[in-house]
Amino acid sequence: MLIDGKKIANEIQKELKFSLDNISGPKPCLAVIIVGNHPPSLIYVSRKMQACAEVGIESIRIALPSEVSEEELILEIVKLNQNSRVNGILLQLPLPQHINPITVLREISPAKDVDGLHPFNVGKMLIGEDDAFFPCTPYGIKILLERSNIDISGKHVVIIGRSNLVGKPLAALLMQNTSGANATVTVAHSRSENLKNICLTADIIVAAIGQPLFLKADMIKEGAVIIDVGINKINDSSQKAGYKIVGDVDFDEVKGKCSFITPVPGGVGPMTIAVLLRNTFKSFIATQKSPS
Ligand code: NDP
Repeated sequence: MLIDGKKIANEIQKELKFSLDNISGPKPCLAVIIVGNHPPSLIYVSRKMQACAEVGIESIRIALPSEVSEEELILEIVKLNQNSRVNGILLQLPLPQHINPITVLREISPAKDVDGLHPFNVGKMLIGEDDAFFPCTPYGIKILLERSNIDISGKHVVIIGRSNLVGKPLAALLMQNTSGANATVTVAHSRSENLKNICLTADIIVAAIGQPLFLKADMIKEGAVIIDVGINKINDSSQKAGYKIVGDVDFDEVKGKCSFITPVPGGVGPMTIAVLLRNTFKSFIATQKSPS
């Protein structure tokens, strides 16, 4: 059965729009910083800003040249931290090679860190504090499972990929002693031995590695739930554009053997945006409760 991420993300956006339509006065505001002209990043940023407009969140785009220095980028972040009109700051990744993402992400005020990547929020998430901003893609996956009525409590979840953006925070979210979690989590990576055997023990597999069509039918057990995070471009002359977007899962092979599967596109991707909007709204509400 297909998990329709687009539909679930639309539901979340409708809920947000409903809440925002009932708020008079200033609306939440998200600042999006983009460095350089990385084509996929330009597309992601415009999708995020369009989604903001659809639910009634204002957004500001700060475009910086790819040669911008780390210091100049940090100055922009500091200005946004100080701007009381801005509730959320998103720094679109990846950054050019000369900028260390860990250094600059730390400069975003944790109270405006709607991408949930600041060590303060990551730490709070790890110790199970709900008032943290959770990273958009991992939290989107958790919501996707919950809203698809897939109970992960006590189940073995194998996450392939240990990035700070997806794998590690997802493991932290799914292992918590809280509703919608309580999974037994294994995190695999490029050095993992016997990956196929590990995957064969999984009730739920999350593939987040950036390797097109990596997960094959012989790597999953019958009835497993498959969440595909990957976004990969592969050549395909049958397509007008000459390429197509595929996930990390060989969808055509795996779909007949699993119980649930997310498509690419239309699975995890839309949830990432929905959570970004939700986090921005959460930040806005927090400032309404305790104006600075
Ligand atoms: P990273 O490149 O940061 O991390 C990839 C991870 O996969 C690493 O931990 C790496 O291991 C592991 N890995 C790579 N190859 C293998 C392999 N053959 N076997 C086992 N493990 C492997 O990627 P991200 O986490 O940022 O992204 C992963 C994918 O998800 C990409 O396709 C990306 O585009 C997509 N993505 C999609 C989002 C969405 O909204 N749908 C959001 C974010 C990402 P090691 O650590 O040992 O190198």
